[in-house]
Amino acid sequence: MDRPALYDKDPMDELIQRGELFQEGTGIYTFGPLLTALIEFFERQFLKLAESCNAKSYRFPTLISAEYLQRIHYFNAFPHSLSFVTHLREDLDVIDDFASNARYEAGGLNTPPEAFSKIHSLLSPAVCNHLYFALADKPLPGGELAATAVGSCFRYEAINLDSLERLWDFSMREIIFVGPKDFVLKNRESARARMEGFFKEIGLVYMVESANDPFFIGEFRKQAAFQSAFQLKFEIRAALPFKDSTLAVGSYNYHQDFFGRNLNISLPDDSPAHTGCVAFGLERIAYAFLAQFGIEMDNWPAVVKDGLT
Ligand code: AMP
Ligand code: ZN
Repeated sequence: MDRPALYDKDPMDELIQRGELFQEGTGIYTFGPLLTALIEFFERQFLKLAESCNAKSYRFPTLISAEYLQRIHYFNAFPHSLSFVTHLREDLDVIDDFASNARYEAGGLNTPPEAFSKIHSLLSPAVCNHLYFALADKPLPGGELAATAVGSCFRYEAINLDSLERLWDFSMREIIFVGPKDFVLKNRESARARMEGFFKEIGLVYMVESANDPFFIGEFRKQAAFQSAFQLKFEIRAALPFKDSTLAVGSYNYHQDFFGRNLNISLPDDSPAHTGCVAFGLERIAYAFLAQFGIEMDNWPAVVKDGLT
């Protein structure tokens, strides 16, 4: 954090004026070529990190099962930010009625709630959960696993959805570790050390801070400081010079055996697997970079300029 940043404006207005950013709805944005190239540059660095951890590539769905979310107590932990998915009931009258009468008015569809099905799927709020679900109720093959995936994530946060700082629909790259405690912690630490080198190289102004993850509130409601005390979550917080504050652009997480226990993922010695993940918010890292360096490429560090394709 002791490095001075070069730029001190919010890049939002300029990005919109230049057609680099288009707001389609609350917390929903389309990105133009410059932002896309910058995100792809960061993605390449994250993929190099994944490769250095021997992480295998996965593709996960955008929808997520309500049944599995319940098994990891997600509804207790993050009720406010969940995004529910439904469809019209399989009833011809309901479908005909919708086709004839559906109108968007007063900020929403006028369709009566009873026309919609029960909710069995949601929009995924994070990437790594899908891997744990796929590994549930069986022994972990080989006793350890490193995986990586990028995915769309959805968190509806009632305030501040009018900037790239906070999106309803955003993208996350994760590198995920499943296995014994030492395997998970060793990989999390080497990922952190490697990213420190990269952030230094591009000259990002940031800090790594211990944080709380409401994920565990369901289990440890009476122990609010649980995560900080056990160093379960560290956030990479990049400076936003224009508002003299910081923004979480990524996190290093260790879930202990929370998923292993709740999803019954077992190690060769029959104990529950431990898990951890390294997660990067792609839009946020690009936004924080632009907030520090501006949108004129001439002012960008050479490694980034030369690294764009
Ligand atoms: P978390 O799982 O909460 O540690 O999130 C991982 C990363 O995803 C964060 O460090 C952010 O970079 C990004 N992220 C989380 N929530 C949002 C959001 N509402 N909008 C944009 N990026 C987000
Ligand atoms: Zn994760």
